[in-house]
Amino acid sequence: MLQPGLMMDRPLLISDIIEHAAAQYGDVDVVSRETHGPLFRYNYARCARRARQLANALAGLGLKPGSAVGSIAWNNHRHLEAYFAVSGSGMVMHTCNPRLAPPQLIYVINHAEDEVVLFDATFAPLVKGIAEHCPRVRHWVCLADAENTPAIEGVANVVAYEDLIAPQPDSFDWPVFDERTGAALCYTSGTTGHPKGVLYSHRAIVLNAMAGTVPHVIGLSPSETVLPVVPMFHINAWCIPYAAPMVGARLVLPGPRLDGAGLHGLLESEKVTVSAGVPTIWLGLMQYVEQNGLRFTTMRRTIVGGTAMPAALIARFAEGYDVEVRHGWGMTETTAVATFGALTPADREKPAAEQHAVVARQGKSLYGVDIKVVDEQGNTLPRDGVSQGELMVRGHWIVDRYYKAESSALRDGWFPTGDIATIEPGGRMQIRDRTKDVIKSGGEWISSIDLENAALGHPAVAMAAVVGIKHPKWDERPLLILVRKPGQALEKDQILAFLSERVAKWWVPDDVVFVDSLPVGGTGKVQKTPLREQYGNLFR
Ligand code: AMP
Repeated sequence: MLQPGLMMDRPLLISDIIEHAAAQYGDVDVVSRETHGPLFRYNYARCARRARQLANALAGLGLKPGSAVGSIAWNNHRHLEAYFAVSGSGMVMHTCNPRLAPPQLIYVINHAEDEVVLFDATFAPLVKGIAEHCPRVRHWVCLADAENTPAIEGVANVVAYEDLIAPQPDSFDWPVFDERTGAALCYTSGTTGHPKGVLYSHRAIVLNAMAGTVPHVIGLSPSETVLPVVPMFHINAWCIPYAAPMVGARLVLPGPRLDGAGLHGLLESEKVTVSAGVPTIWLGLMQYVEQNGLRFTTMRRTIVGGTAMPAALIARFAEGYDVEVRHGWGMTETTAVATFGALTPADREKPAAEQHAVVARQGKSLYGVDIKVVDEQGNTLPRDGVSQGELMVRGHWIVDRYYKAESSALRDGWFPTGDIATIEPGGRMQIRDRTKDVIKSGGEWISSIDLENAALGHPAVAMAAVVGIKHPKWDERPLLILVRKPGQALEKDQILAFLSERVAKWWVPDDVVFVDSLPVGGTGKVQKTPLREQYGNLFR
């Protein structure tokens, strides 16, 4: 007969993270860029006190456990306080992506039933446009002091965050409840149909944050200073705002300044050792650093994900600047990181180019997540590094059902990701494409990601996108859309010749279009739908 374990049964709650940080790492810095420019500096003890003040204020506004609080905000210290105050009170922290189109933003705020929305002054014009369409929102709280809170014409119930919390006591009895309670809500940035909400439980977030801190993943400890560029409005900033206080790492929040100069200045002045963000941000930073002949004097590691990290950019970081790139994969539905690639000791013996190729894959699943790839009938494919199929995931921090959906999103207990991947015998996974982006040419698949990576290997290429365009004979054929680096000359024949040496002959794109910029969506990813629409008739 099974024996019941005889240990305490304490729920995994987000309020415990900030209280632990206050008690054990109370003097550790949190540095935050204010929306109006200057740096703000305090520590985890003060962060916890202000989170408790906010929890009192929200209760004073009549919000109850289960109520939803929205945010339209940058990565900054007030947003951090809200992460703990809202979820810690048993309420739902609904982070909104400010780059959603206003109708979608209105949709998610109403669907989530937000009663209060916290916003940064940058987004005051957005609030002005949406407020009248969000009747449930009783208070719009500007994450600033009174002086930096703009009046918003037509929106009466705007209050400054500092005015809201100032009169409140800095003690609060965090409620204790089931760890499976909803803590945070984030909507997918779906390109078709309405965005779908993923309601993360306290348990999912705490377990993911713990898994992320281990040395071969994000690797956080009291000796590290971490700067998450990955936004707090999208998949919980990969849970770094929870993981850093959990282990007493210094936390640097960049606010709205995400340009190369702003980021480089902050990385250097705050002696950041670990950063995290999407490849497009790092492209901008790298260009700035190269053009100005700068170095990274403290940053040793950067964590990338959200889209595939090209091997060429990995090489620039590693060889030019001695910065290790670690590449993770996850999606809104997986709370934060689900798979992660770090070099093993054996990998480090390999030639540099092979090491970069290893890092360009999306890595092994973290403990707590299982992965497999399946064919169209749902049969599990071999882990041979070549069999491609849909990636399926399951685990402690993977969605079961979308918010307010009537049925589960799972297939036989696994979540179908919509990504096409291969898995090697050793467990390393590689994303080959999104199911909607893979190019179906003559019954075979061409990976748009592999082609983009190959094109980005050319020294004159700044950005690349490959889309499948309808073709009368082959069903679809690849079109390559390129942005040249400033001052570089590159012509179609040259890039096609370059690609012919690197990919199978039938993969070489049928045409190349040069553009000044590519459309980038709210989460830093190149948007392929408008490209497909614009060039859809090219091969007809
Ligand atoms: P989102 O839910 O907006 O975060 O988007 C999740 C999707 O981004 C995944 O399903 C992948 O298609 C893509 N993605 C995330 N990380 C990576 C990565 N490291 N490499 C390639 N694609 C990625």
